[in-house]
Formats: sequence, C-alpha cells, structure tokens
Amino acid sequence: MKGHEIQTCEALLIKKTPIGESDILATLFTRESGKIKAIAKGATSSRKRFGGGFELFAVLKIEIGATRSGGKILQNSVVSSSFRRVAENMGVFLKANCLIDFIDAAFPEEQIPNETVFNEAVKALSAMNAGDGICAMFGFQTAVLESLGYSVDLSRCGECGGQTFENGHLIFPSGVFLCGSCARKSEGKPARKISRTVEAGRGAALRDVNCLNAFFQYQTGAVLKSAKVLENMLSG
Ligand SMILES: [Zn+2]
Repeated sequence: MKGHEIQTCEALLIKKTPIGESDILATLFTRESGKIKAIAKGATSSRKRFGGGFELFAVLKIEIGATRSGGKILQNSVVSSSFRRVAENMGVFLKANCLIDFIDAAFPEEQIPNETVFNEAVKALSAMNAGDGICAMFGFQTAVLESLGYSVDLSRCGECGGQTFENGHLIFPSGVFLCGSCARKSEGKPARKISRTVEAGRGAALRDVNCLNAFFQYQTGAVLKSAKVLENMLSG
C-alpha cells in the first residue's frame, strides 16, 4: 500500500490499546486484509472520525491509510452493524469473547484475507446477538480449524463409518471422530468427548464448543484464556 492510498475495509475489533493521551492502537480482523494493527490518532477525542467505532462485537466500516514508515493509520471507523445484545447475557458474552480470542490466536498479522472465516465470525456474532448462537460458534470454529489445515470430520465414525454420536470422541491430533464403541477400543489416545448433537441441548452443545477449543489449543499450542472460563461454565 502506497502512502496516499486509502483502503476501505469491513472489520471486527479484536482489541484496542491506548497510546499516550489520545491515540489508540487497534487490532482488527478485516474481510479484505486479514488481521491488521493500525493506529488511530486522536481516537479518544474525535467523535467525528470514530463515533462509536471502537465497539467490540460489531462490524465496523473502516478506512486505512499508511504512514511514511509503512505502518497503518486508522483514518476513521463507524459501526455498520452492531451486536450489542451480546453483552446483555453473561453466557453469550463469554462465548463472544472466546470467538474474538480464537481469531486473535489463530491468525498472525498481515495474513492473507480469509473471507470464509470472516463471514462465519459475523454469522456467529449475529446468532449470539439473537440468542445463544452456540451452533454458529461451532461452525465458526470448524471453519477456522479447516483454514489452518486441522479439519475435523464429524460426519461419521472414522473407524467403523457409523453415525452414532452418543459417547463419540474426537481424537487428538488426527481430528478423527470415533463413535462410542470404537472410542472405547482406542482408550489411552488423547481424546475429548464430543456429542455433535449441537441442536440437542445447551450442555451438549457447549461441550462441543469446548472440545474444539481444546483441539485448537492442542494443535497450535495457543492458550485461550476465555476457553478456560467456558470450561468452568460447563463444570460449574
Ligand atoms: Zn465406530
């Protein structure tokens, strides 16, 4: 990107760090350029350029310019759609936080854009805004894992081909799903119980989200603090 060019992006805010009196360093996951960091000059004082535009759980419309040294400047940011109700329910809020953490841990800066993951993230936040959104969260996690090359095949048992999901397990690190009876035979391998009956009930569905969180952390070595909170929610 040359110095004078301005790029318009759709973005989710990952985090914001205050710099000095009035600037903000924003980490953003954009549809067009993947994860980026950009400085917003005078962000805390300019309502005109950044009116509400540092909202978590919202699709932002942003304009990015470049500094002489090649850094990125956030010129302005406005909310194009907000998922504000996410913050009204503690359980949903924790899942939404986990989604943001997941993106941050999964993608290094300046990655090639990943529109599929961006769309799945927006879909999940939108579903969370409308209620629980656990199925969409599961879909989002699956999309991220697939884009990282850690696909999980939950369509049938990887051993016998059966489609009984009761007491099924996801085997680490292969990502193979085993039905209850095949899982019993391969005891001792690292595995997590997964029901994949994401519509069946809240407890089961949260278990599935937790399973994919664990799988992601196992594969990447990343630590998701928010995943631990969700684990405690299930056991507590
Ligand atoms: Zn089986």
